[in-house]
Amino acid sequence: MKFGTKAIHGGLEPDSATGAIMTPIYQTSTYVQEGIGVHKGYAYSRSANPTRSALESNIAAIENGQYGACFASGIAAIDCVIKMLNPGDEVISTDDLYGGTYRIFKTIFEKYGIVFHFVDMLDIQNVKNAINENTKLIWVETPTNPMMNIIDIEAVAKLAKETGVLLAVDNTFATPYLQNPLDQGADIVMHSATKYLGGHSDVVMGALVCNDEGIAKEMYRIQNSSGAVTAPMDSFLVLRGIKTLHVRMQRHCENGEKIARWLKTHPKVDKVYWPGFEDHPNHAVAKRQMRGYGGMISFSLKGNSLEDAKKLAVGTNVFALAESLGGVESLIGHPATMTHGSIPKAEREKTGIVDSLIRLSVGIEDPEDLIADLEVALR
Ligand SMILES: *Cc1c(COP(=O)(O)O)cnc(C)c1O
Repeated sequence: MKFGTKAIHGGLEPDSATGAIMTPIYQTSTYVQEGIGVHKGYAYSRSANPTRSALESNIAAIENGQYGACFASGIAAIDCVIKMLNPGDEVISTDDLYGGTYRIFKTIFEKYGIVFHFVDMLDIQNVKNAINENTKLIWVETPTNPMMNIIDIEAVAKLAKETGVLLAVDNTFATPYLQNPLDQGADIVMHSATKYLGGHSDVVMGALVCNDEGIAKEMYRIQNSSGAVTAPMDSFLVLRGIKTLHVRMQRHCENGEKIARWLKTHPKVDKVYWPGFEDHPNHAVAKRQMRGYGGMISFSLKGNSLEDAKKLAVGTNVFALAESLGGVESLIGHPATMTHGSIPKAEREKTGIVDSLIRLSVGIEDPEDLIADLEVALR
């Protein structure tokens, strides 16, 4: 089955009770048992709920995985992965990382004795150097936020296999439409379904997908034991969102390319970061591991003025000034004061997050209107 068909039908059956083509919202906490312990596979909705189960099979299908699990947020999905580890275990993570991921690693799990190393994975040697006998997990995010660096998943997976370390990939930015980390050798793929999978800025949710039965057992055990599960209504909304993922992503990619190329020729724009450019430092890797380049773009301004960047961020009409990404509507953000405001200036500038850096989540509106909006704001 190809991707669009899987997005609509993958892992889904008409409702067994009624034949309803759309998975019903099973808004129930418990299920009547015919005898003690005799039930239809559902006993209590923290452990399993039919709407959530349908979504979990659908997300597993689009990521080419066997097992899916959904969580109350992307962060709750990350929480589940780290809870598979024990005190003393070490994790190697990309250094250009979603801020909330960094925060849960450093401020929640470090005090339980898990050790985190943040390395620049553009050079695979840095990963090699950080591996020791305690290393249990490599955490990769690609493309990275907001610099749109591309990490070579296959190369990291090869190293992980050789050393017996698990590899988890945060696939939020690319989505399974553009890349499937399990096919490239990852053990676990993670999503903030809040973003492109949901796609309509109306749900907060996370997901994990894997192929290994042992990992799946742990994943479901922790999902049930820690209890950060998704509600039936939210599961329905994300199921509905995924049915148009391929159509939305196609448009996000087209609009992203138009805007990235237009920005590159604009006299007030300095650098444009988008992995589809032939001169992007990892374009070759992006071309190999992704099927398109998405709608996330960052750019800096000539003169690198903080004031100019702030004026631009509040000066658009169609692009809304907001956190988050991946919805149908276009968003504009200023990483230095918004998503990455807690990182010291010297630290963030090292990774390219300068004062004038602007991040766009390009939506699926008409590209002419998006470009006209940016043109006026830049002026
Ligand atoms: C938003 C995001 C997360 C966290 O997901 P929530 O749903 O906000 O908890 C993790 N990783 C990336 C790349 C994200 O963009």
